Amino acid sequence: MSASKQCAISIDLDGIACYYRIHGVGTSPRELEHAIYQRAVPRATALFGPRGIHVTWFVIGRDAEHAPNAETLRALANGGDEIGNHSYSHHYELARLSAREVDDEITKADRVLREVVALRCAAFARRGMTCRPR
Ligand SMILES: [Zn+2]
Repeated sequence: MSASKQCAISIDLDGIACYYRIHGVGTSPRELEHAIYQRAVPRATALFGPRGIHVTWFVIGRDAEHAPNAETLRALANGGDEIGNHSYSHHYELARLSAREVDDEITKADRVLREVVALRCAAFARRGMTCRPR
């Protein structure tokens, strides 16, 4: 019997603008708007793909509306990776929104992923591990 090690790898595709907002350093340069899809995704797929490692990519819905990003996501899914919902607009105050607003964020991202990217998500990742008491 051989022992195998298993793990799950998920990557949040948070754009550079998300980091500018959370650190309060102003507006991100326009040329970096899709840098995660243009630079980080190819690097990650070059790392994981040849090793047969599949990843769950958590996608911000509005980013998936950009046609080249949608194409990238379809290619990832066609390669066997999972695409997850990471809300529509990646609100930093998601835990403080009303239940209806949270539902809208999830539903709107789901619509984009179904209609624009033609993918159905089974997973949702909230932003920044935030939660609220019920
Ligand atoms: Zn995030």
